[in-house]
Amino acid sequence: MDYYSKQITKLIEELSALPGVGRKSAQRLAFHIINMPSERVEALTSAISGAKKNIRYCKECCTLTDEELCPICRSKARNHRVIMVVENTRDLAAYEKTGKYDGVYHVLHGAISPMLGIGPSDIRLKELMRRLEDDVDEVIIATNSSLEGETTAMYIAKLIKPTGIRVSRIASGVPVGGDLEYIDEITLLRALEGRTEL
Ligand code: ZN
Repeated sequence: MDYYSKQITKLIEELSALPGVGRKSAQRLAFHIINMPSERVEALTSAISGAKKNIRYCKECCTLTDEELCPICRSKARNHRVIMVVENTRDLAAYEKTGKYDGVYHVLHGAISPMLGIGPSDIRLKELMRRLEDDVDEVIIATNSSLEGETTAMYIAKLIKPTGIRVSRIASGVPVGGDLEYIDEITLLRALEGRTEL
């Protein structure tokens, strides 16, 4: 099935391994890249390798950042006593876009899923519990309303309850199984305002 030279086949293979990129799109992208001026290809590859090399987890909230502390954790304007727990950095970005939340975040990088063999120690829960040793008034659990998100929310709530810190869950106006990043800002704000204590 090698219609193309080895190099092109390799490029198509690498591209089609990316999420959401099918074989056809991978081919289209591959030929687009080959036809790009060399400087553009150079800029693209160095953006990819630069991001991979310099991006790390924020020491505090575990979001992806290129500094030790992300801008949100560094900000004095934020309320560091309220922590919103989200599954990933894209969910954090979705809440940030509303511009109405002034607390800080904690990014789990996943959700508990017994079916996929993802347990509590596979997500950034230990880091969250460590943060709760400081002065914290409330933990808002904003994991997705999927089965995994709900399982994670229940697990975290049970873990935090004994500490006496207030734990709440965003309202379930958020469509079931819906990725937070695809939900509009008004729905997100409503979910946040309508949160209930667990
Ligand atoms: Zn941070």
